[in-house]
Amino acid sequence: MAKLPGKTAYSGVRRPMTRESGFSSHPDSTGGEWKQERSKSLNLNAGESLEIIFTIPKHIEGTWIAFGGWYCADKGLVINIHSPYPKNTLSEPASPNWSKFGSMWQGNGAASTVTVTMTATKDISISLWNLACGLVEQPGCHTAGKFEVCTAPSYLINLHLLSPEAHFWTTKGETEVALLDSAESIDLNDAGAYIRLKTCNRCARFLPINVDDERVQLSFSNHCVARRPCVHTGFGKLRHTETQEILQLEYGYQLECRFCKKYCVNAAHNKNRTGAQMKEDGARRRHFELLVTELYQMSRQMAFKHKTGVELSDYVWKKFGCKCFNCKTDLPTVKSMALDHTRPLALLWPLDETATALCGSCNSSKSDRFPSDFYTAAQLIELGGLTGIPGNELANPTPNMEVINELIGRLDWLFGTFLMKPEMIRVRDGKITGELVVKALQKAFNAAPGGSPVNLIDEYESRRQSEA
Ligand SMILES: [Zn+2]
Ligand SMILES: [Zn+2]
Ligand SMILES: [Zn+2]
Repeated sequence: MAKLPGKTAYSGVRRPMTRESGFSSHPDSTGGEWKQERSKSLNLNAGESLEIIFTIPKHIEGTWIAFGGWYCADKGLVINIHSPYPKNTLSEPASPNWSKFGSMWQGNGAASTVTVTMTATKDISISLWNLACGLVEQPGCHTAGKFEVCTAPSYLINLHLLSPEAHFWTTKGETEVALLDSAESIDLNDAGAYIRLKTCNRCARFLPINVDDERVQLSFSNHCVARRPCVHTGFGKLRHTETQEILQLEYGYQLECRFCKKYCVNAAHNKNRTGAQMKEDGARRRHFELLVTELYQMSRQMAFKHKTGVELSDYVWKKFGCKCFNCKTDLPTVKSMALDHTRPLALLWPLDETATALCGSCNSSKSDRFPSDFYTAAQLIELGGLTGIPGNELANPTPNMEVINELIGRLDWLFGTFLMKPEMIRVRDGKITGELVVKALQKAFNAAPGGSPVNLIDEYESRRQSEA
């Protein structure tokens, strides 16, 4: 594409975008708060081009840099991005829905310019919101005011796919707009389209959502697609942060933004299954891990355990004196340790600070057994001291009642969302994956004191029939 380099390409009067305040956040965000903001707007005549000029400042080589923003316009707007980095997000104009563009990559240190050209093929009005560029934080998990940076290489590629919601600004560059090939000053007004914003329950930011066509997803993925309308409070029913006005959605949106979904939910889950951890990695195991993780993340009542991945392994390894708890073999490195759930995942116990350090062979012989079915009485006392799990709980095989009660309160979510995930409806060897998960869950429920509170298999069957 023919394009003159640098700033001489356009003769227009540049006008700084004053509205790049960044994202506001809600102090105790549940993911269920919404508000709306007015955007900036301008009109283009057919044939005219708007140019947005992002000037990213000098930085230390390897620093993450980014540009991007949200816009709302009718079809008939042709958009081109000229950037030193080849990959970008650019969603089509879809007024009255909002669209977005942007990218994020590790810079080479030099200041750089990105220009986004918007050419009108008919008279058109364009609304702009939160255009910004500059230096941003390396991705990671922001939760409850804490930040855990992500260092897994596989999670640090293709960040353009999460732009602009991945942009946590540290130093902002200049963002200006100009009319291409015109000496006229561009007329930006404050009467742009409204943009609806929703909180993320992790990073607490207000980020854009579409309410006209919720399938045009921006910073959040939909919640209920197969079983809409989404009747879940906080997902499909949002409360205005000031007026308390309820916004009822059709598909609803996830509580965490796409960025936090990747760096808090999926990355943590992925790390749990790699490295120094249990070798048994059957499908049921993975699905239970995912189920328990999602439940802890959705629930405001259940205490979310912060240590995950390498941090958790390291903590448990040191606490157990770098030895296998059972046979006392030295575990010279964290990687030589098998991290055992202590109380089995099959009974819905999460992998957290109560885990046990074992060698590989003790781990496979313990397998899914409850501590009282594997250790001696003396070992149970020692294990109670190290893990903080009360002795009577280690001695009596019981499922995690917190998770069971949470699940009973979320049967619609279990059957309508979790078991509707693509991997759950997949058929393997003639069996539906989700059906096997339900059976395994029922086993855990059966182990509840006083017997199973719910018959999940009956529930599954009756829901399946009403669906058909
Ligand atoms: Zn977030
Ligand atoms: Zn829902
Ligand atoms: Zn051992």
